[in-house]
Amino acid sequence: MREVPQSQPGLDELVGMTLTALAEGRRRRGGPLPAGGPSRVRAAVQAALGASPDRTSLLPRTGIGAAAAITGLVEALAAGSADPADPWCAAHLHCPPLPVAVAADLAVSTLNPSLDSWDQAPAATTIETEVVAALAELAGFDPDQAAGTITTGGTESNLMGLLLARDAASNGQLRVFRSAAAHLSVDRAAAVLGIDTPPVAAIPTDGQDRMRVDLLRKALAEHAGPAVVVATAGTTDAGAVDPLREIAAAVEEHRRRLRRRSSSAAPAETGHPASSGWLHVDAAYGGGALFSDRLAAHLDGVALADSVALDLHKLGWQPAPAGVFLTPRPDGWPSLRAAQADYLRSEDDEAAGFPSLLDRSLRTTRRADSFPIAVTLRALGRDGLGTLVDACHDLARHAERTVQADPRLEPAFPVTLTTVVFRYRPQADVTGSAAACTAERPDQLNDAIRRALLLDGRAVVGRTRVGSDRAVHLKLTLLNPNATRADVDALLRLIATTGDELAGGYGGETRSIP
Ligand SMILES: *Cc1c(COP(=O)(O)O)cnc(C)c1O
Repeated sequence: MREVPQSQPGLDELVGMTLTALAEGRRRRGGPLPAGGPSRVRAAVQAALGASPDRTSLLPRTGIGAAAAITGLVEALAAGSADPADPWCAAHLHCPPLPVAVAADLAVSTLNPSLDSWDQAPAATTIETEVVAALAELAGFDPDQAAGTITTGGTESNLMGLLLARDAASNGQLRVFRSAAAHLSVDRAAAVLGIDTPPVAAIPTDGQDRMRVDLLRKALAEHAGPAVVVATAGTTDAGAVDPLREIAAAVEEHRRRLRRRSSSAAPAETGHPASSGWLHVDAAYGGGALFSDRLAAHLDGVALADSVALDLHKLGWQPAPAGVFLTPRPDGWPSLRAAQADYLRSEDDEAAGFPSLLDRSLRTTRRADSFPIAVTLRALGRDGLGTLVDACHDLARHAERTVQADPRLEPAFPVTLTTVVFRYRPQADVTGSAAACTAERPDQLNDAIRRALLLDGRAVVGRTRVGSDRAVHLKLTLLNPNATRADVDALLRLIATTGDELAGGYGGETRSIP
């Protein structure tokens, strides 16, 4: 007979151990991410997993017990994390979750409701329905008509948007129109759904990373079939917002044009109001601006969309995943409704008043990720969340001014939301010959700055390419409302002085580019 494990600690004890180990792991790390780069992190984590060559494997015959496993591995995870709660962890749309949302998440993991049938999630079914209605209203939809679902994020929401657009489309070649700055998940969704022939034609952007609506109009006019236009509210790189109202007007114009043609040889309507032109707004990043009185106007026109993606694990401070997919109308989900599953949903149950959310998602087993959102909305209210959005926007505006004031730093785009894109340029008069040398290779220098900071664990700074020459730029994506202006200034100083050192080294003086 196998040994029955000795009495194991209960959840309350384990939660206490977890919090202690989190603090210890963070203390060991000391900065925003572990120092030493991938090989050192790998070795430390493998040791904690018992996976190093001289230890037992990750799956031992006899377990080490809950206390040892949780303490050792939570410490290793915390010590080895890029921690969005650190003000110098500023590379990605990667937010520090609110403690109230994390606590709510613990309740979800404990009760483990699953949204694919009412009898696995009686309360959570209503919670999701109400969260969707509240967020639909925030977006400007009629909450009594709107429908939606909680998703794993923008990727799944964009797939849902294109799926519904495809279902609604009239006959003819459905084509996807999105800007050159659209998220990669849009093209992936088009490929998965077989809608278009990727790469999808990209509408060029203006100097501020926004879709050129004049060029969208032209592209739509040249297409005789149904269209799905994906507008981005908060581009992943620059945080720019496409002109939503003008794009909605262009989509409406396309619908009218196809309707006029439909008497002759054109596509037959499917009866869906958006059958010949569907507007999907990818507000995965920018959707959170709706909480802010100051920034909500950037999303003017979002209520004209046929579907919207927004991510509350970005500007919303939820633990991931907390994606939201919204549509203004309850109809138009035929692909999902077509699937039958007698064990999950039956007509007699529905007739007896048992609701089912099965038809609202591509997933079957589905966590109640709406619950931390519900607790957060109640706890902070719109103003509380708006204050957090404004704090991050203030930080970005401040960083923009600091960049403008430092002759070594060159801004790329004006700040719209919470992202600052810039690059390091060595000053000719200061670094002399080094500048002449690096002027040819500013890309490598900016790459090297970012990697030097990553390797010694001092800062996590983003990187992207900008403009027609695809020049390497750095970016700060500021999603930590507890960071201060002094934190941001010190980080920008660190970036500039690291650039100075590397530019010098590049001229053969101090250090070499890693
Ligand atoms: C983050 C992001 C996505 C992808 O969302 P996930 O939550 O990572 O799946 C899509 N679109 C935009 C504009 C984004 O910023």
